[in-house]
Amino acid sequence: MNIKRLVKKDVSVLRAYNAKEIPCRVKLDANESPYGFRTALKAAGKINTNRYPDPEAKALKGLIAKGLGIKQDNILQGNGSDELIYYLVAAFGGPVLYPVPTFSMYGIISQALGEKRIAIFLDKEFDLDTDRILSAIKKDRPKLIFLSSPNNPTGNCFSSDRILKIIEASKGIVIVDEAYQPFASEKGFLPLMKDYKNLVIMRTLSKIGLAALRLGFLIAEAEIIEEVNKVRLPFNVNSLSQAVALEALKNRKQFNSCVKVIVSERRRLFNEMEKISGVKPFPSEANFILFKVKDPDKVYNALLKKGILIRNIKDAVNGCLRVTVGTPEENTAFLKALKTVSG
Ligand code: PMP
Repeated sequence: MNIKRLVKKDVSVLRAYNAKEIPCRVKLDANESPYGFRTALKAAGKINTNRYPDPEAKALKGLIAKGLGIKQDNILQGNGSDELIYYLVAAFGGPVLYPVPTFSMYGIISQALGEKRIAIFLDKEFDLDTDRILSAIKKDRPKLIFLSSPNNPTGNCFSSDRILKIIEASKGIVIVDEAYQPFASEKGFLPLMKDYKNLVIMRTLSKIGLAALRLGFLIAEAEIIEEVNKVRLPFNVNSLSQAVALEALKNRKQFNSCVKVIVSERRRLFNEMEKISGVKPFPSEANFILFKVKDPDKVYNALLKKGILIRNIKDAVNGCLRVTVGTPEENTAFLKALKTVSG
């Protein structure tokens, strides 16, 4: 049997997402938080393993809704925000528009589901090219527009007036992916939800210390949530994740203090990286820093030899690597190694 001939063409040309485990001493490649919440695991002991999870994740959504000052009807839970991207594309279809470089899953999922993709390059400042986006909106009428702000892998927030112009011009849904919002100096788009029916906010717990749980949320008009909920798999968020997240989120102070340390370490990393010859870091509002070097492969491999794993982004952004902000000790180890390998 020829499997290649059976598989859908859109899928056969895809490559599996490369999330392979590379052994290392210091892991700064996946924009995770260096701080976990192990004490929250005690909540897992109360789970009835023979029962399905709460399909609506009511308690968790209730807590999130309360924290954000919104209603439960305006939230949809996902097995990570990756899954919610899948659901959005499954529910609304394409064309799907997004800037590049950005988070790769918008394009991968759209392609896997056979939807038309419109990728529009960011400008030289890594901001949205509104002229080109607005003309694509007119011409192609995208049903979905994904804007990651702060953007992965560039680290900057897009100008809010440009995002607003896009929301106002679009006849489709605009998703502002705020995966990195906790680390940003700007407020984010949640306060604008009431003014724009086509605005959807996406958030995740993955970057603030709970990546293992796989939990993401959509925040939107109840009517949008209802439609997306039709394609959601019945028990998409498991009981362990629901219970442990509930326990961890009780202690918001702890989250906030971890975010504070990461933001101050980001500042230190940036300042120190700027001093290293042959290294050009780009300002970041996220928990990672994009930086340019003369020979990204050489620097990436030399760091790995010293046990430090970062992300090689050269295919998305010419000459660039991306480092996640770790603990102060991890960052110091990274800086020390970078100084010796960047020349
Ligand atoms: N959006 C952006 C912009 C991301 O960078 C990532 C993770 N790298 C995600 C979404 C996916 O997050 P999750 O772990 O919630 O699936």
